[in-house]
Amino acid sequence: MSGSSHIELKVLVVEDSKVVLKGLCNYLERMGIADPLTAETGMAALELYERERPDIILLDALLPDIDGFEIARRIRAKEHPDEWTAIIFLTSMTKDEDLVHGITAGGDDYLMKPISQVVLQAKISAMRRLVEMQRKLVETTHKLDAANRELQRLSTTDGLTGIANRRMFDELLSREWRRCLRAGKPLALVMVDVDFFKQYNDTYGHQAGDACLQAVAKQLARSAPRASDVAARYGGEEFALILGDTEMDGAVWVANYIRQNVAALDLPHKRSPFKHVTVSCGVATILPSDKASPQTLIQAADHALYQAKERGRDRVAGAAG
Ligand code: GH3
Ligand code: MG
Ligand code: MG
Ligand code: MG
Repeated sequence: MSGSSHIELKVLVVEDSKVVLKGLCNYLERMGIADPLTAETGMAALELYERERPDIILLDALLPDIDGFEIARRIRAKEHPDEWTAIIFLTSMTKDEDLVHGITAGGDDYLMKPISQVVLQAKISAMRRLVEMQRKLVETTHKLDAANRELQRLSTTDGLTGIANRRMFDELLSREWRRCLRAGKPLALVMVDVDFFKQYNDTYGHQAGDACLQAVAKQLARSAPRASDVAARYGGEEFALILGDTEMDGAVWVANYIRQNVAALDLPHKRSPFKHVTVSCGVATILPSDKASPQTLIQAADHALYQAKERGRDRVAGAAG
């Protein structure tokens, strides 16, 4: 009866009558459940449950120490969200209320004593199916969780550079805007644009261009150490750094730090007057208010970036909002 596709079931039998216990174990072994776990008291049952986490428990309702209903209740309280233990009460009680009591306490089914092998077998088969379904459900749930996390990551991250993408940038900028608005703190934005990048691509090829963007993104990410700082790819060869609670001086300092670090990489660029890859930065700060919007800040930083380009590139320009 136990086909090879069946999962191994761990069964715990809790029964204080040695004779009944032995009989049940024989039945179980005959249906392919080798070495069932056994306990003769409630305490021993709880200890075994903790250690072994069985799939199925055959649980005598009347035990010398703790009654079976109480044990079921305690086991249910110990189960992790992913766990489910099939609990089958063994009872000689015949009143409907006792059965209701057992199910209410967390039992899944019951077997009437004296227990027939055929009925036990049928119930174990039914519980086996439930255990299998439960395991598949848990497995599927985990896969789904992982897929959702990956999807979340992909939808917020730039594929080339691994930093926040434009979507995430927009979301985080308005979040920082609201945070600084509430706190009455200034918000800074640094726009970073690679200089003469079209020529870089034309000279070294698109793949080298991609590698260059990755290197620039890495410098940007390094310069955003606070939890609220955000380094993002704004688009193409343009990056952005959101710095909450930061004044113009601090933001210009960070922009220059990035500019120097990119220059220090010394990536050859023979068609640039600087002979290596450089970036220009536009910095803007604003005290968020209801009269302005994140868009105001972006425009100011964009304007500053334009000035940095006009003045010769490989430099930082700032504009207070
Ligand atoms: P400037 O100094 O004024 O910034 O000039 P520029 O050449 O850097 O600017 P322009 O806007 O003329 O060119 C940007 C180039 O960036 C053009 C585009 O092909 C390239 N680019 C945009 N995204 C990518 C990318 O993902 N990979 C690569 N390799 N190149 C990209
Ligand atoms: Mg450009
Ligand atoms: Mg450029
Ligand atoms: Mg550009």
